[in-house]
Amino acid sequence: MDGKFPQTILTDMDLGLRDAILTELPHTKHVFPPWHVTSKLRSWFCTILGSQFDKFKSDFDKLYELDAVEEFEHTWAEMVTEFGLSSDRHVALLHSHRSYWALPYLLGWFSGGLLTNGHLLSFQSFFKGFLDSETRLKDFVEQVGVAVDFQNQAEEEATTERNQLDTKIRTCMPIEEHASTILSHYAFEMFQKEIMSSTEYAVFETARESYLVRHRLKTDGGHVVSCDTSNEEVQCSCKGFESTGILCKHALRVLSLRNCFLVPEKYLVPRWRRESSLFPKSSGQKYRSQALRSLASIIIQESAVTKDRFDYVEWHMSRLLNHIRDMAGLMKLRRIWVRARLCMIRLI
Ligand SMILES: [Zn+2]
Repeated sequence: MDGKFPQTILTDMDLGLRDAILTELPHTKHVFPPWHVTSKLRSWFCTILGSQFDKFKSDFDKLYELDAVEEFEHTWAEMVTEFGLSSDRHVALLHSHRSYWALPYLLGWFSGGLLTNGHLLSFQSFFKGFLDSETRLKDFVEQVGVAVDFQNQAEEEATTERNQLDTKIRTCMPIEEHASTILSHYAFEMFQKEIMSSTEYAVFETARESYLVRHRLKTDGGHVVSCDTSNEEVQCSCKGFESTGILCKHALRVLSLRNCFLVPEKYLVPRWRRESSLFPKSSGQKYRSQALRSLASIIIQESAVTKDRFDYVEWHMSRLLNHIRDMAGLMKLRRIWVRARLCMIRLI
């Protein structure tokens, strides 16, 4: 990993993996994703709870709607008492590992918005095309890279062809329209969910550039947002941006109050941008030449640092060059250009 470690790692609820990750990746946040935790509930509690299981499962799912530690602990204690599970070993296991799966303990750790049950099916369909039980770990990493490249390119081409025609703007807020021109389809859906929810929140100014943002139907709780428009800085106590890379509903509510009509640049992270938004809008040869020179310059600087980096870059660049020379035809030129940019970006 060239000295870099993942910020967050999602795995099955496996205590062996837990120990290995604690040892090998001590600074990485280990998360048991919701879909895996909830998939265990039936085998653990159905026999004990009998007809009460469905109610228990419904209450357990609601835990994922909580974002404050105190609220989680209180609700958990009530649930355990109500179902008479205080001496159950699986309840003890879940509670002792709550920092691995309960959302209030995961605030601020980047998850890319993946901590919802709905992502299980998309993961399965994503991996199905190129993985099977025979796939080795080394091949797995390479195959994921190829699949992500393919998906990025496919999304970019689809976006160009659609030309935004099917992107539905759901509010009258200019900031939503701005986000729609920059974010990828996946990221814009996350953004749109937040901006729509933001209209349900009330704002109270508590100090200069500090706000309490609370749901309109609640009389307590809420999150604290600090907002300094002079340097386009906005921070929320829910840590939504740190977790997903998308501004949370609380921050968006305050930005709206402060008459911000564009998403500040620093909150449009490269990970979630459409590829075309990473480059100046131009299609001329001069622009292409300059853009590639700029990327090449960065690659030279970065790859000269160690021999491993140099070998890696040399091998990929040789392949890329051969690939480009082998291709022909006006229609293919655009694909080469997209592919070259993708490869170079990922080499950096
Ligand atoms: Zn927030």
